[in-house]
Amino acid sequence: MLAALSVAAGAELPGAARADDQNQVSVSSMSIDARRNVERRVDEVANRIANSKSFFEEDHLPIHIKSQFDPVGQSLLMEVDERFGPVSGYVEMENLQSEIANEIWPMLENIHGFQGLDWRYGGKDLYFWFPGDRREPEKSKSTKPTSRDGLGSVLINDGHGYYYHHGFHDWRFQREPANGIIEDRVTSEIATPLWAWLSMDGVAVKTSRESSFGNHEPSGKPLYLMAARYLLERSLPERPDIWHSLPDDVSDLREYREDIRSRPLFANALGVDAMISIHTNASDNASVRGTRVFSQPGRPESAEFASMALCYMREHIHASKAYEDFAVAPNPQFSDKGENRLADMPAIIVELGFHTNAEDAAALKDPLFVGSAMRGLAKAYRLFRNGERCEEFAVRVPDKAESIVGDVTKIPITWTGNPDYPMSVSAERGWAMVPEAPAEQRVDLGYQCLDDDVGRSPFALKVVGRDFAGIETKPAEIIMSCLPRPEIGVAQR
Ligand SMILES: [Zn+2]
Repeated sequence: MLAALSVAAGAELPGAARADDQNQVSVSSMSIDARRNVERRVDEVANRIANSKSFFEEDHLPIHIKSQFDPVGQSLLMEVDERFGPVSGYVEMENLQSEIANEIWPMLENIHGFQGLDWRYGGKDLYFWFPGDRREPEKSKSTKPTSRDGLGSVLINDGHGYYYHHGFHDWRFQREPANGIIEDRVTSEIATPLWAWLSMDGVAVKTSRESSFGNHEPSGKPLYLMAARYLLERSLPERPDIWHSLPDDVSDLREYREDIRSRPLFANALGVDAMISIHTNASDNASVRGTRVFSQPGRPESAEFASMALCYMREHIHASKAYEDFAVAPNPQFSDKGENRLADMPAIIVELGFHTNAEDAAALKDPLFVGSAMRGLAKAYRLFRNGERCEEFAVRVPDKAESIVGDVTKIPITWTGNPDYPMSVSAERGWAMVPEAPAEQRVDLGYQCLDDDVGRSPFALKVVGRDFAGIETKPAEIIMSCLPRPEIGVAQR
């Protein structure tokens, strides 16, 4: 992804960092010069994007942004004009920050332990301006899962949908179409396989845009295309605190703002164990692409879930030949976003791809890509809930093995990672199946030497593990020696 970015967007992004720029160096161990260098490049991009169009209907440009690394917080402070404090908690600010973060992230993502962007408005953070948005520490996943079977409960929050604009007096989508995709529509399509895979794992699943057939009144739009705010207004009329949480807001965008907020507030009311928001990403730079996951700064469980989500989506996406090089971010982004900020439980935002990039858009329309990514995401939730870690599925074999023609030798194979069972281990000849998760991740692979093997001995025998989801390990090699069977008497070893 980095290579593609710096080639395609080189002129616009002089700072598109190569991975080796600050590879594995933390903020506090960067030299002053290195910090200033990144800050200067961030400022260039941030101010260009912030002033490229009007993100706020009621405000006039210019916007001024000044970045500065915080070696104590291991973050990058982003100072914005104080007049934006009163709108800092609204979705328009989030959109502005997303566009900036999307472009500057390649300069930052390889900084070791980086805690993300810390936005300030006149020196004060969002909670100074929106004290009601401050939440208790997130509900730990180790608290008892609420579903009947103890397998956890999740709110899938499919992004956007029709909302009412009080200035234009019409119902409109929240996102612009690009490459044949309208994000407001596609997020629900992406959520469907996620719902299916989570349900098959026994997870109790709700979606924030759950709807029946028919049209919404008064918009006349199909219910399934409506923003969550309006569906919740129908299903929970007695809970305006969820869907009408900004009763004092008189702006044209008040319902658009309430929609974002309604989703985590609904998750809190449901008391689910986790919340997964599904989005597709956008950038004015058509070359920016790839899967990214966001979690709220300062929430370690959400960060862990975000990291697991990337790990297992990467595993599943890369398993199909067509997507083996698809760009999946190495690390989560820590960024203040309403859907995560207001959630009381581990919450992540999955930006599956950029609908503004042609190749990503094609993938977002491909059921193979979407289905495998969502299968990986469901697996990430299951393993996160069980306290597992991200680990590569890999087989381990002995360096060498020896046998006599006609004998079946047992080669002990072990593996790491979290494959879906049943899984198999196979070589050129020889195959073993593991029907269910064993106590010890070990199986014996039977290999029978044939006459042909004698002449080529020693030779490399490649062993591959393959799980039920079709995830394959890289081949592991054993140096195999096949000896001829003695002409007379009993075989000697
Ligand atoms: Zn979105």
